[in-house]
Amino acid sequence: MYPYFYGFDPTYMLIIIGAVLSLGASAVVNSTFRKYSRVRSLSGMTGAQAAQRILNSAGIYDVSVQHISGNLTDHYDPGAKVLRLSDSVYGKTSVAAIGVAAHECGHAIQHQHSYVPLRLRTAIFPVASFGSKIAWPLILLGIILSMSQTLIYAGIFLFSFAVLFQLVTLPVEFNASRRAVKILDESGILYGDEVGITKKVLGAAALTYVAGAAAAILQLLRLLILFGGRNRD
Ligand SMILES: [Zn+2]
Repeated sequence: MYPYFYGFDPTYMLIIIGAVLSLGASAVVNSTFRKYSRVRSLSGMTGAQAAQRILNSAGIYDVSVQHISGNLTDHYDPGAKVLRLSDSVYGKTSVAAIGVAAHECGHAIQHQHSYVPLRLRTAIFPVASFGSKIAWPLILLGIILSMSQTLIYAGIFLFSFAVLFQLVTLPVEFNASRRAVKILDESGILYGDEVGITKKVLGAAALTYVAGAAAAILQLLRLLILFGGRNRD
């Protein structure tokens, strides 16, 4: 019935391309971050200090800056109003550390200003994470039960929310980095060349989101090729 499950599935190439893009992007981010982690900022500020200063200068006093273990695990948690900075950012005085800290502050500022793509992203998240978990089980159930296309289409439809989530993530991430570079430049936390270095670090970080979105689109494309146009029964 479904030869794809027994032999080589050519559409699997799409998944492999997505995986290679994601791996390549994360390799670029890691090497760029490592490189500029060795460049100490002239201000001598740590990532945490820079974050605190940026938040305060944006009039944000209800977001706390905390340490989180791990590598590049930095994030802003809008629910808890906590900015978590990783080992190589929180207590480090490198230009890369300050750049990442400022990027996370960019998200806190987006939150403060109710930036529309961020609100959209938060709204889509539950459906997207449910959709990416339930899509394949629904599709397989649709096949096993030999039912009409309904279950299969429902699976593909739900998966498309995971793709939408990845796409909405792009403006959120690009905007946070743009805000970060602008603030670091204007506030004098970074000087001269340091701003350009930060752009490189954050530009590399943005690649992972672009690769993530591309991988999600390729997965959706694969689902559509495999199951989208089938008209049996
Ligand atoms: Zn971000």
